[in-house]
Amino acid sequence: MSRVYNFSAGPAVLPEEVLKEAAEEMMDYRGTGMSVMEMSHRSSAFQQIIDEAEADLRDLLQIPENYKVLFLQGGASLQFAMIPMNLMKNRVADYIVTGQWAKKAWQEGQKYGKANKIASSEDKTFSYIPDCSDLPISEDADYVYICENNTIYGTKYKTLPNTKGKILVSDVSSCFLSEPMDVSKYGIVYGGVQKNIGPAGMVISIVRDDLITDDVLEGTPTMMKFKTHADAGSMYNTPNCYCIYICGKVFKWLKKMGGLQAMKERNERKAKILYDYLDQSNLFRGTVEPASRSLMNVPFVTGSKEMDAKFVEEAKEAGLENLKGHRTVGGMRASIYNAMPVEGVEALVAFMKKFEEENS
Ligand SMILES: *Cc1c(COP(=O)(O)O)cnc(C)c1O
Repeated sequence: MSRVYNFSAGPAVLPEEVLKEAAEEMMDYRGTGMSVMEMSHRSSAFQQIIDEAEADLRDLLQIPENYKVLFLQGGASLQFAMIPMNLMKNRVADYIVTGQWAKKAWQEGQKYGKANKIASSEDKTFSYIPDCSDLPISEDADYVYICENNTIYGTKYKTLPNTKGKILVSDVSSCFLSEPMDVSKYGIVYGGVQKNIGPAGMVISIVRDDLITDDVLEGTPTMMKFKTHADAGSMYNTPNCYCIYICGKVFKWLKKMGGLQAMKERNERKAKILYDYLDQSNLFRGTVEPASRSLMNVPFVTGSKEMDAKFVEEAKEAGLENLKGHRTVGGMRASIYNAMPVEGVEALVAFMKKFEEENS
């Protein structure tokens, strides 16, 4: 068996311990004589899996009692519609557009009401987070929407926007569980799990109780109502059982690693290795303003398309995979999620140094 260092933005690297455990339990999950994939979601074995997953997640994030944890399908992208359908009582919402995922959410919001773009960083190809301390928040806005870590561009909010009392909704897909977070500051915080938590095909939405009602936009499908899933413990219909099981194992792994404060420190250490190198390199440079840099997604370029392509190819030969930047931005991007070991980042930087020496 040989594993590579996988810098994919998502689906992405998972902790080896989790993969090994899942492999061991594949044929016979704890004496049930079947795998979790073959098990009824109404069985007591599965009920225990989902209950433990929720309890461990609540513990990790210190989620207040008045928030529901929902394990939903449709990925993060379905939330782009589900959020306005459930929250747009006045049919008005404010969006801060800091990248493609925020833009897609904003465009989807326009289908349901007046979705205002109140700030953007598109003028500089989304290479920074705008000042959000005093934005023109709409008086009748049902919520203010952000994408907290911009997976494609590699930026992250260091302080949350001043929403002037409005509900904050945040997409944290690519920074979920990378550091502690004060859930009470949000109305909804959600993320697709395939970036920093588990396999693809699920989104976890943490929703404040009072936002879960029957008062949704007319025509909202049953499956798109938060209340449907909240009332049924995320099992109104068959959930993504296997994904919930793997996420649960990742939550246990995170607790064993010391929790989110420990992960934050580890992630800062990892990111620093890469950013420090980029800041002194004569060949590579980071593309993000230092004050907005993400700990999770690190885009960089050489300035030459040919050199970028050569780098990506040679890195792959050296066992450093998926370093190609997003198809819309080019260059390179290293995603260094929780499950990427420090050694992976050290190996990347050692390879970049060698490449720089050979090509300058
Ligand atoms: C990947 C990603 C999405 C889209 O996730 P899907 O699960 O594929 O719908 C949305 N937002 C952010 C920030 C992402 O990184």
